[in-house]
Amino acid sequence: MSSRTSSPQPPIKKSFIRELLTFSLVFAFAAHPLEARAGSDAPNVARIIEAYPDALGKIEGNELVWRDGTRMPLDDGHGVKAFADWIENPDIEDMLRVPYPAGAPADAPAPEIDPGRARNAVFFEKMYGDCRKGDVRAKLKTIVWLPSKAKQRLQVTTVNGVADRLEAISRELDALPAEFDKYLVPAGGTYNCRPIAGTNRVSAHGYGIAIDIAVAQSDYWRWASGAAAGKVAFRNRIPDQIVRIFERHGFIWGGRWYHYDTMHFEYRPELLPPPPSGARN
Ligand SMILES: [Zn+2]
Repeated sequence: MSSRTSSPQPPIKKSFIRELLTFSLVFAFAAHPLEARAGSDAPNVARIIEAYPDALGKIEGNELVWRDGTRMPLDDGHGVKAFADWIENPDIEDMLRVPYPAGAPADAPAPEIDPGRARNAVFFEKMYGDCRKGDVRAKLKTIVWLPSKAKQRLQVTTVNGVADRLEAISRELDALPAEFDKYLVPAGGTYNCRPIAGTNRVSAHGYGIAIDIAVAQSDYWRWASGAAAGKVAFRNRIPDQIVRIFERHGFIWGGRWYHYDTMHFEYRPELLPPPPSGARN
């Protein structure tokens, strides 16, 4: 055996190998947009238990255990999905896979980065009901949107305190200076049992957890030129102050999606940081 075997590698060779490894890792991640943002690590599934304390009990292995004993798989075993499969057939883990940039200034999201746009239908139907069977409507409550300015009546679900939360948002938005009114009034709507445009999937509006603010000041990827070719130019007019108020109360914003929908907000506390200790989600 030669003495070279036990001698240390020349430093230059080591660093070259490290660079080569780093380069191939970066290249591999960059090849897949969902992985590029999320890495290969499993998302923090424990956050979903904190986010829905009334409904969810614990995580056991690969299962989400509801307080009523219902069990659902977190991971369907299909691995990291390409974008079309991720949006059409997300498992519960997939819903958490793309980090949501809470509190960040509005900016063009990277291609195919749509944090929160994948919803596991079995999870949402269990939580809020299936509107096509009529079981969402019974849980709706009417709230008054911008009580001093718009006085618009809107229906949202009472499940997870969503109606109370939207009322709190509404009061904060009502107190903003008049220059914000045009973005908020009239609201485009809340509960609506309909599929997402161009799909068979029930919209978040069908669960009673979503609101569209003023349509006239909003931008939507399907209205953008180039959308048909798959290249979407980001456009947004909604001020950050409005977005931050919603996010503080557990609502995510459709303006943070590559397939943007800047009028749209929905209750998705699992994608937002936990509220300060002592406060409820
Ligand atoms: Zn909407």
